[in-house]
Amino acid sequence: MIVLNSLRGYYFSAIKIHSQIAIIGGGTGGLNVAAQLIADGHAIPQQIRIFEPQKMHAYQPGWTMVGGGLCNVKKTLKPIEKVLPKNVSISDSAIAKINPKENEIVTQNGEIYTYDQLVIATGIKTEFDQIKGARQYLDDLNSPVASIYNYKYAEKMNRLVEEFEGGNIVYTEPPLPIKCAGAPQKIIYLSHDRLNKRGIKTNHHFYKTAGVIFGVPKYAEILTELCKKKEINCHFKQKLIEVQDHKAIFENQDTKELKSVTFDLLHLVPPQLPDKFITISGLADAAGFVNVNHNTLQHVTYKNIWSLGDCSSLPTSKTAAAIFAQTPVLVKNLIRVWKKNLEPIPGYQGYTSCPIFTSQSKLLLAEFKYNSQLDETFPIFQSNESRLMFHLKKDFFPIAYWQLMIKGWWGGRDGIRFFKGA
Ligand SMILES: Cc1cc2nc3c(=O)[nH]c(=O)nc-3n(C[C@H](O)[C@H](O)[C@H](O)COP(=O)(O)OP(=O)(O)OC[C@H]3O[C@@H](n4cnc5c(N)ncnc54)[C@H](O)[C@@H]3O)c2cc1C
Repeated sequence: MIVLNSLRGYYFSAIKIHSQIAIIGGGTGGLNVAAQLIADGHAIPQQIRIFEPQKMHAYQPGWTMVGGGLCNVKKTLKPIEKVLPKNVSISDSAIAKINPKENEIVTQNGEIYTYDQLVIATGIKTEFDQIKGARQYLDDLNSPVASIYNYKYAEKMNRLVEEFEGGNIVYTEPPLPIKCAGAPQKIIYLSHDRLNKRGIKTNHHFYKTAGVIFGVPKYAEILTELCKKKEINCHFKQKLIEVQDHKAIFENQDTKELKSVTFDLLHLVPPQLPDKFITISGLADAAGFVNVNHNTLQHVTYKNIWSLGDCSSLPTSKTAAAIFAQTPVLVKNLIRVWKKNLEPIPGYQGYTSCPIFTSQSKLLLAEFKYNSQLDETFPIFQSNESRLMFHLKKDFFPIAYWQLMIKGWWGGRDGIRFFKGA
């Protein structure tokens, strides 16, 4: 196998396959860019190559609903070839390095590809192993440790809550940034409501590494009140560093003091980091994210490199909703630079949204932009929990994702996109 791989690497590095547009990552961002380039007539599928090592594409926002008992995991996963635009080339190799001055992509097998324009959309990786003992307890079906940040562990969370007979539930949140910063508390409210309905006596404890419940003051106020009302105990500046048998070990972020907390169920959220190839390739900011202009999404040094989504340096909350606002800006600017030799136009102002389930029937829709400024679409429904917003998230957003987004027809809060013209 090793011999075959090196032969394959030698062969490919000798021929260097070229693509007009190379997209690294076939997750939400990469897929959405490819779909809109084609749907808007800017590119034909044969001009695009996507690098994606995973066989399944995941609708990750659905994993909260899986863990909360609102959705079957099967509805969150589809084979990658079923969601990619037809006739787009796909390489199943992971990328090891970019040589940006040579316009080269080097895969982990040593294959070399070249590009005219490059889009990096590799997301952030869940680092469960950074918490000592976490993986062992998560993988043990009999241990009461789960996480919605992985579809298998999300299914486990649903089962554990279903079978829970009372006691202490400990929920954690690692240092930011993470995918969907609201998700660690969505699962608290969903579990709280389920257990309440069953009359199970439970103490809910939320241990956050950050010092506030939410980064936007308006929603922080609403969520603080909600926790008080639901008797959810919040503990700030506490970072989970180790899991032991029914014990979670936290480090106080000010004093570095360690504290052991006993649990009957632990929901943990892993630390999350961008892929190392971004830094190795000289494309990263100080934190390891692809260093792009915050308004045009063009790389600050290399004018034919673009990035969006979780792996980008865009200083906003990392969500799929943010990607739906970023994609049209990236696509328009890439085309200006590639086909018209024009400068990119600043078009993205940091819009993101976080739909926070507050129970099994209600939701608080948080929408904001750079500097935590509110940017609400339905202000009258967004000052409190809403049943309408709950159904939008639970029933409509998954349809929009699978039926519209993958075809390039979904514009996020702008609704259905019609042909935008080449
Ligand atoms: C539990 C949970 C709840 C969430 N809830 C919401 C929500 O309610 N609303 C919302 O809008 N968002 C939500 N999100 C966030 C949303 O899912 C992400 O922001 C979004 O999926 C990010 O898209 P992306 O394309 O940047 O990364 P991903 O979708 O993660 O895709 C990255 C892709 O890059 C590939 N890749 C990685 N490294 C390499 C490499 N070296 N070479 C080649 N390919 C590579 C990966 O295999 C992956 O397929 C949630 C996420 C989670 C986990």
